[in-house]
Amino acid sequence: MKLANAVAVALVPPLCAACGRSCRPEGVVCNRCGRRLADAKPLLGSGPAGLDRVWSSAPYEGVARDLVGALKFRHLLPVADLMAERIEWLAPASVLGGTIVPVPPAPPRLRRRGFDPAGELAAALAERLDVPLECCLERRGRSRQVGRRRAERVGHPPRIGACAPAPRSALLVDDVLTTGATLTACARALRAVGSSRVVAVTFARRL
Ligand SMILES: [Zn+2]
Repeated sequence: MKLANAVAVALVPPLCAACGRSCRPEGVVCNRCGRRLADAKPLLGSGPAGLDRVWSSAPYEGVARDLVGALKFRHLLPVADLMAERIEWLAPASVLGGTIVPVPPAPPRLRRRGFDPAGELAAALAERLDVPLECCLERRGRSRQVGRRRAERVGHPPRIGACAPAPRSALLVDDVLTTGATLTACARALRAVGSSRVVAVTFARRL
């Protein structure tokens, strides 16, 4: 992870990950995008079924949306740490407890990209918060969310099950909250194997 980060930083010139303009060598985003992201309002709610609480650091728009794309499609690992930093700084202490559980990637997607944005964000957040990380969930079957319309996604929730013992208090982490069907399936799988508290944080939330 550390080496991969160093390689990514070395390969990527100091350009803003969100807008592509030049920025300070140590910066992930330029000052302008940094200010815009700082202005984005976090969202807290009871959220999708099965979750005790859901908190997202920003609406899925503008700079936040650009950063999600930079991590997902351009594999800019420093973006994962920037997202984790924002979550660490802004999320209420009541949310940031328990063991971090990344929302599992769909196997076909993971194979194609060789990269798991939610996993990278979860690992960066676990390191920052100094809390345990348990990759105890896996996708099952061939159900895919990408490319489906919202109504279809809600009608066909992903199949998710536990592949290892689940923590009593779980903090699910994903890059974007869309319909909530995936988080609900994760929460159900965790509670089926013993989690009594399931909270989720996402970097962005589609409104
Ligand atoms: Zn920028």
